Amino acid sequence: DRPTTAGEDAPVLELDGVEKHFGTEKVIEGLSLSVHEGEILTLLGPSGCGKTTTLRLIAGLERPDRGRVALNDATVSGPDDFVVPEDRGVGVVFQEFALFPHLTAAENVGFGLEDWDDDAREARVDELLDLVGLEAQGDSYPDELSGGQQQRVALARSLAPEPAVLLLDEPFSNLDVDLRVQMREEVRRILKETGVTAISVTHDQEEAMSISDRVAVMNDGRIEQVGDPEQVFQQPESRFVAGFLGHASFLPGYVHGDEVTTGLGPVPRGQINGLAGTYDRTRVDVLVRPDDIRAVPVDGEAADGRIVARRYLGPTILYEVRLDDDTTVQCMHNHDESIPLDSGVRIELDADHELAWFPSDQRPDD
Ligand code: ATP
Repeated sequence: DRPTTAGEDAPVLELDGVEKHFGTEKVIEGLSLSVHEGEILTLLGPSGCGKTTTLRLIAGLERPDRGRVALNDATVSGPDDFVVPEDRGVGVVFQEFALFPHLTAAENVGFGLEDWDDDAREARVDELLDLVGLEAQGDSYPDELSGGQQQRVALARSLAPEPAVLLLDEPFSNLDVDLRVQMREEVRRILKETGVTAISVTHDQEEAMSISDRVAVMNDGRIEQVGDPEQVFQQPESRFVAGFLGHASFLPGYVHGDEVTTGLGPVPRGQINGLAGTYDRTRVDVLVRPDDIRAVPVDGEAADGRIVARRYLGPTILYEVRLDDDTTVQCMHNHDESIPLDSGVRIELDADHELAWFPSDQRPDD
């Protein structure tokens, strides 16, 4: 149900060359981003990379030092303009939900609708409670609701005034693991049903992948790559993006004709995405993820390497294999294929998986 990446329509939200300092520290650097009508975009990155600051710049809770923020083609932050948060038509769902404890679920949802007439407000509240599956809980107070139900109320409250853009700041971090996974699906369904344009923030790559139409990977105040989840995972444009989105091993290789020589043996060049002819006879690093390869226990000579680490992850086991050329790769297996530490293994590369590559870190004459 993912729509294709934004069409030609004017973006609902646009950031253009936005910069933000705190004291001498530059926290956001030349950040540009367009988000289109009905899109769910997630800012994904490690702690401190500037995700929350970006949301606050969009909401008008911070002023940029440079650059421009526009909503529906109107500048809301710029050198000569600043629209206050309450006039931006931006809704925010906070981490801690921030419900009013002395108001019922229905009263919380209706909170931003004080200008609406009574009938319209009541109808809108009913519509939203229905949308989030809480039609029977309208009279409950927040402390009578579960975490997931509180989150639904928070979402309904932010959506009620029909914001142009909805911002979600780490929306799942206060939920336990099972509920988090279930609520991701639910929040995506609700956002898609309303057609609202939404920007969320998380450091959890799985969460970003599962709720977003597009993901913007941030590092150190910059966006490193924007794309749909498959794109950023399968065609990362930087080592940072590759490493942040999942286990990544970088396998040194040498391009020679139709093959790339690696510690796993020759890999057909055609299996490596976009490794153009000009790279013949150069060193590259091939990105290998755990699901690209399988380790098969073998005796002696036939081994490509041996298991040097074994990490139990619950449903799967992650192995680290040191290859004969001293590089390491990671692979993941089910329990029924358990391999003891120190075993010699042959590595089989899945021929159907397209691999990504990066220019080598080493100088050519290393
Ligand atoms: P997290 O995932 O931990 O919330 P984040 O990616 O959202 O991180 P920000 O909260 O945007 O990151 O912070 C980016 C940087 O800006 C951090 O180094 C932070 O310490 C700094 N920072 C944020 N707000 C302020 C402030 N009001 N004054 C000074 N420094 C700030």
